[in-house]
Amino acid sequence: MITRVRSITAVCVLGAALAACGAPQTPRPARPAPSATSVAPSKPPTLAPGPAGVTPVFMNGPRGEDKTVALTFDADMTADQGPRAAAGERFDNPGLIAALRELDVPATVFMTGRWAEEYPGQARGIGRDPLFEVANHSYSHYAFTADCYGLPTVSEDRMRADVERAYAAFRKAGVPDAMPYFRFPGGCHDRRALKALTPAGVTAVQWDVVSGDAFATDADAVARQVLDGVRPGSVVVMHCTRSAAPTTERAVRTIVPELRRQGFRFVKVSELIGAARDRR
Ligand SMILES: [Zn+2]
Repeated sequence: MITRVRSITAVCVLGAALAACGAPQTPRPARPAPSATSVAPSKPPTLAPGPAGVTPVFMNGPRGEDKTVALTFDADMTADQGPRAAAGERFDNPGLIAALRELDVPATVFMTGRWAEEYPGQARGIGRDPLFEVANHSYSHYAFTADCYGLPTVSEDRMRADVERAYAAFRKAGVPDAMPYFRFPGGCHDRRALKALTPAGVTAVQWDVVSGDAFATDADAVARQVLDGVRPGSVVVMHCTRSAAPTTERAVRTIVPELRRQGFRFVKVSELIGAARDRR
């Protein structure tokens, strides 16, 4: 399903590019059209399905000598937070995204569909920046298990539709190629949820390093927790919602130079998944 949508998107992008090429007034000699494979984005790596075909779960990359680490940022927003956003509460964090660009740190943003609806310009900007990749964090951050930090729950028969609704919101915002990766709200999942999402064709992405940035007030404590936890192949979970994670930008400004000093290279989750898949 996702693959099909992606290839349609690729064709549209190619179509638009060709239309733009045709725009100049002076006709130029016809050149052979580039082959689709040379312009279509390569298919993102995914893990093979788990036992009985259920959605595979990825937690971290290979623990090899290649010192890679993936910073991930969850863009949480629930369906009922619109009025709070309208009243001025910031569920976005443009300063953090700007800092990642300034520091040239590749990152994966797990975006809720609701966030993309609230901040379409930012969603598009992140989605079109090759430094970043956009992945799925559900439509409105409802839980996929019954007991998950008090979050309201998505019923089993709505789980797949919820994930696809988020992808639809990304496309509407202008995110061209969201990744087939899904992070469960709160990380909460069980076999039932993994099974319900099988037809969506996603790889579930967890993490091995909790930054503790949610509702933190001490940026140094967040940075320390990350620096203590990171190993080669680590996936770090953080947030790009200013109201709920106000210290994240400052923590990132400490974490990034220190991990680079230790020889780590920042990568997107797709690179770690590709490396993990190739090891199998
Ligand atoms: Zn979340």
